[in-house]
Amino acid sequence: MINVSQLSKKFGDLAVLKEINFEVAKGEIVVIIGPSGTGKSTLLRCLNYLETPTTGKITIGPASIDAVDHKAKDITELRKQSSFVFQNYSLFANKTALQNVAESLITVWKTPKQEALSTAETILVKVGLAEKLDVYPSQLSGGQQQRVGIARAMAAKGEVILFDEPTSALDPEWVDEVLAVMKQLAFEKQTMIVVTHEMQFAKEVADRVIFMEDGYIVEQGAPQQIFTNPQHKRTQAFVKRAL
Ligand code: ADP
Ligand code: MG
Repeated sequence: MINVSQLSKKFGDLAVLKEINFEVAKGEIVVIIGPSGTGKSTLLRCLNYLETPTTGKITIGPASIDAVDHKAKDITELRKQSSFVFQNYSLFANKTALQNVAESLITVWKTPKQEALSTAETILVKVGLAEKLDVYPSQLSGGQQQRVGIARAMAAKGEVILFDEPTSALDPEWVDEVLAVMKQLAFEKQTMIVVTHEMQFAKEVADRVIFMEDGYIVEQGAPQQIFTNPQHKRTQAFVKRAL
């Protein structure tokens, strides 16, 4: 369902992504691990065109784009196919939890407002925030804000949810409740790509783990393989430190 081929990204002279190729099947849970500064965030951001790739082709569901030859409309269509969960939540501070979750339905998908609000409510109930519908982000804990962030991504009707270190900014006490929501989504076979340092989550939940270093995919495979029998020296070194 997702196909990325020959994706590269340069910031000036700095090559951050170098010929990235991978595929993701519908319902698959892919976890990306690797040292910081390796290009993991840039890769996710390119998938959503938050960053413009330098070269390469990205297909997500019905949307397809070639970095060097496309129309503006291709970007709009590609963006509709994924939603992003940010490390720092990136909620609208002046909107309630309910409004944050309904926003993309109203603006991107042109869903009638009442229907969008009702859908948003259902999703917030599902992530355990039934009591917080009309509350603003500043009145929520980090864990609650991130659950709103995930609810917002769930509301968007794209094919895949992209998570960029969704628990890294959280106080330790809030990490588990956020991981629990992600596990629930995985259980429901929501296609997701998750950049994380939570190795236990990767072991338990991932269908496939991708190890990235220095702008390359060094190795990928089932969690069992990556964590207990990595083939590449660099993967071995990283996994040894991370576990
Ligand atoms: P990771 O998420 O694996 O830590 P990033 O994708 O954030 O890595 O960053 C990869 C490299 O790209 C780093 O060297 C970083 O400094 C650089 N980089 C990221 N974003 C920008 C940007 N907007 N402008 C210039 N360099 C950037
Ligand atoms: Mg990052």
